[in-house]
Amino acid sequence: MAGCGIRSLRWGLESVLSSATHSAGLLPPEIWVNDADPDRAELLNRNLEPLRLKGGSIQLANEPAEALLSRAHYEGRCFDLIDLDGFGCPNALLQPVLNVLANEGVLLLASSDGRSPTGHDRCGAIRRLAAAARTHPASWEVALRLQMAALARHAWVLGRGLEPLACFSDGRTFRLAVRLKSRLAEEEEHLLGLLARCDACGDQAIQPLLSLQGWPSCHCSPGDGRWAVSGPLWLGRLQSVEVLGALLQLEEQLPLTMSPVSFRLLQRLKADVGLPVCCWSINELAKRLALSGPPPVSALVEALRSAGHQAYGSALMAGQVRSDVPFPELLRVCQSIHRAGR
Ligand SMILES: [Zn+2]
Repeated sequence: MAGCGIRSLRWGLESVLSSATHSAGLLPPEIWVNDADPDRAELLNRNLEPLRLKGGSIQLANEPAEALLSRAHYEGRCFDLIDLDGFGCPNALLQPVLNVLANEGVLLLASSDGRSPTGHDRCGAIRRLAAAARTHPASWEVALRLQMAALARHAWVLGRGLEPLACFSDGRTFRLAVRLKSRLAEEEEHLLGLLARCDACGDQAIQPLLSLQGWPSCHCSPGDGRWAVSGPLWLGRLQSVEVLGALLQLEEQLPLTMSPVSFRLLQRLKADVGLPVCCWSINELAKRLALSGPPPVSALVEALRSAGHQAYGSALMAGQVRSDVPFPELLRVCQSIHRAGR
């Protein structure tokens, strides 16, 4: 999956640089680079030359990832960081990857399967995620939460816990960075649950699997509503303020390593850790209330906070407000913002 090796080169050069600069005495990192296609070997070799010149240690391989990971497991080898970025859904590799990820090690996981976790291939979601996936205005976030749940189940089977560090998407690729813990955090099992949304009225509800009961009534007239339920998915936070803050600080120390776009993305993610779970589309709210336009995200967030609720603009999709406000009150707040703005 290394392709032309650009990511390996960046990992290598940046870690050689930072280990030399900031942690004198540490051994330089050893980078394992694998692409299953043997025709890429020569190109990879050539592209990684600048890393060798800097003293980086590189192990190049051209074999299926499963083979490399299984052999590492057999040999008792662990990696501090694994960057898994193939085509489609990566879930067939989760267990082999977690088997060789060190305690406190970091996994960067990419999935370019956008159809099954966003409710557009429901049978695919059952096969790849063992989950129900329904369409949702915050579909990118639902996809990330479904993927995180799949990862958590694989980690938990091994008795290990997960700490999300950063999760984001551009709608085509869904990216998760997580830290593997030696054991589950207290009540970590409570973070697996279901998200329900009524397409008729737009109301939403969540429940952890551990305390699953019947669903409450939605905002429809009695008998008219119908919940479409997605999950099991991850109900916990999606970002680590500490790690994102440290990455933003790194930008000052290694100014050439981060583009302005990435810098702004990290700032956005740091400002919205992903809780509460329910996200509301401002366009959908405006449509339901027959308003002439959507309320500004910032005005809605401010009004909800003034009313004593948690509220954040979503860092994962534009035009979404994350809040724990009950739906009828959310509609009233939107209505009053609209009146005040006229
Ligand atoms: Zn309803």
